[in-house]
Amino acid sequence: MATIFDKIIARELPADVVYEDELCLAFRDINPQAPVHVLLIPKKPLVDLADATAGDQALLGHLLLVAAKVADELGIGGAFRLNVNNGASAGQSVFHLHLHILGGRAFSWPPG
Ligand code: AMP
Repeated sequence: MATIFDKIIARELPADVVYEDELCLAFRDINPQAPVHVLLIPKKPLVDLADATAGDQALLGHLLLVAAKVADELGIGGAFRLNVNNGASAGQSVFHLHLHILGGRAFSWPPG
């Protein structure tokens, strides 16, 4: 089922895009939880991390490398948090895999 993120990839919905390549797209979260809060999504419609298979290994590695690059480009390369909510009870609300890239403030541990 198409999600709101598929519509952003297709440019049917607006987004504040900060990075794009042939495999992924990064855009600012509409409800930021930190001074920098970007969502990084694969263009492939994976539901969540549990939906990925061994065939997605290169894509998942690419996402991590791009996350660090985007963080650096947005000025938070020295300290940022990556978060993936996998499943509704873990906080996932959009069922298209996304990495939250958060920075610009201190973060506590454990997460809530
Ligand atoms: P999650 O709860 O992990 O599934 O994260 C979904 C995120 O998508 C939330 O942080 C929302 O604020 C964000 N979000 C939902 N709709 C949009 C949108 N149209 N543009 C940007 N971010 C969005």
